[in-house]
Amino acid sequence: MAHAVTPSPATNSGPAPVEYEQALATYEPVLGLETHIELGTASKMFCSCPTAFGSEPNTQVCPVCLALPGSLPVVNEKAVEGAIRLGLALNCSVAPWGRFARKNYFYPDMPKNYQISQYDEPICVDGHLDVTVDTPEGPREFRVEIERVHMEEDTGKTSHMGGATGRIHGADYSIVDYNRAGIPLLEIVTKPITGTGELAPQVARAYAAELRDLVRALGISDVRMEEGSMRCDVNVSINPRGADEWGTRSETKNVNSLRSIERAVRSEIERQAGVLEAGQRVVQETRHFQENTGRSISGRSKEEAQDYRYFPDPDLVPVAPSEEWVEELRATIPELPAAQRARVRAEWDLTDTELRDLVNADAIGLVEATVAEGAPASEARKLWMNELSRRATEQEVELGDLPITPAQVARVIALVEEGTLTNKLARQVVEGVLAGEGEPDEVVEARGLKVVSDDGALGAAVDEAIAGNPDIADKVRGGKVAAAGALVGAVMKATRGQADAGRARELILERLGVG
Ligand code: ADP
Ligand code: MG
Ligand code: ZN
Repeated sequence: MAHAVTPSPATNSGPAPVEYEQALATYEPVLGLETHIELGTASKMFCSCPTAFGSEPNTQVCPVCLALPGSLPVVNEKAVEGAIRLGLALNCSVAPWGRFARKNYFYPDMPKNYQISQYDEPICVDGHLDVTVDTPEGPREFRVEIERVHMEEDTGKTSHMGGATGRIHGADYSIVDYNRAGIPLLEIVTKPITGTGELAPQVARAYAAELRDLVRALGISDVRMEEGSMRCDVNVSINPRGADEWGTRSETKNVNSLRSIERAVRSEIERQAGVLEAGQRVVQETRHFQENTGRSISGRSKEEAQDYRYFPDPDLVPVAPSEEWVEELRATIPELPAAQRARVRAEWDLTDTELRDLVNADAIGLVEATVAEGAPASEARKLWMNELSRRATEQEVELGDLPITPAQVARVIALVEEGTLTNKLARQVVEGVLAGEGEPDEVVEARGLKVVSDDGALGAAVDEAIAGNPDIADKVRGGKVAAAGALVGAVMKATRGQADAGRARELILERLGVG
């Protein structure tokens, strides 16, 4: 039975791709993105089953999401709320009335044999999202028009067992987990995106990043692409420059990282140019992006449109959000990423490059939270963008996933400001917090990291440094004050970097009679 869903055999054959710049000299790309976002509601779209990730298979199911006879779905109000809030944030209009539709097809991980979705009556339509792309000439803005936002439910998850590859080919049997079946999804569909030229891959990526940040700001999903709570289908076509018709598009399914979106668009432009240059035609099909090769392979042909036999779901009442409710929800829309960027740019007095670095590192929220905990913006930005970014890169995690909180970062900064820590010691405290050694103050205590600035302990180290370097001491006595740096160095070394360097220098000069 499961063979019904097997894609046609993967092939990478076909004409050689045309190199990107050359393809762009001849052809104009058109893009379309379909993005699925898993909502972070406590319960499923049409039943009260919990949605927590990672539970034992088939423990979060009930007669409704298993589609047992006699069960009836009820719409999750929180999911509708999320859909409307996203629609409003995307400048859409909200439909005053709309029905759910049954999309009929057979899939082993879909217990009903149909998916409840929205077809010709989506909840939100006709919006836009502005995105910014960096070019050698500076930042460039593109407006991406949004066709629709609609609600639907997720399917279960099939695993193919016994084979070497985890794919259905060569597997002995398949098992299905219905925990995910019925989790609310929003699908956001763009209108065809034109006029991007060679920036098409970056525009696609910037759109997905902007949408992700916007959804995160709304707090309706954790939008983790690597965990599948946000997935993009990337439609690409190319047409000869100046042609008045668009080309045939392919649809690369479920691309699951920003980088892959960019690469998928680029490689698809190159591939389609190769097909056209060879005198062949682009086939309308789904494709699957391969991380390892950076190319996609052919999936299911869409030449003959599948007939989903959509019809309004008779078990569900229409969704008819009142104007008052929509306005209530509009009032809950927080500051959106674009506005936030403009604000922090002014507030923190950033250059284009500094702002871009913060955005790319996904650090604005972290710096803001650190500032809210009392740290000066410049110090907060420095710590997140230098030391912590370096460690995130080292550990191959996102900055926000480092095991340190903005409050802890703010405390480290405060310790430096009050003179308890030098910058160097601060780095060790950060290291300790990241290693799970506790709060910054606990790390300072446990590792004995306080700056040595009391004149007793410091004085002894200074005396030692002078005694151990008589030549240098003489030079300083003779007026070569610059030579004192070497003595400060010796003090720092003797105190394992814990000395207050400024105070050490003062003491040295005092002792040598040049203070
Ligand atoms: P389907 O239901 O087959 O997925 P849609 O109408 O939902 O088709 O369109 C899918 C996406 O492809 C949309 O984002 C749309 O804007 C985009 N699109 C439509 N035509 C083209 C084209 N010629 N080239 C690139 N993208 C296109
Ligand atoms: Mg579609
Ligand atoms: Zn259920």
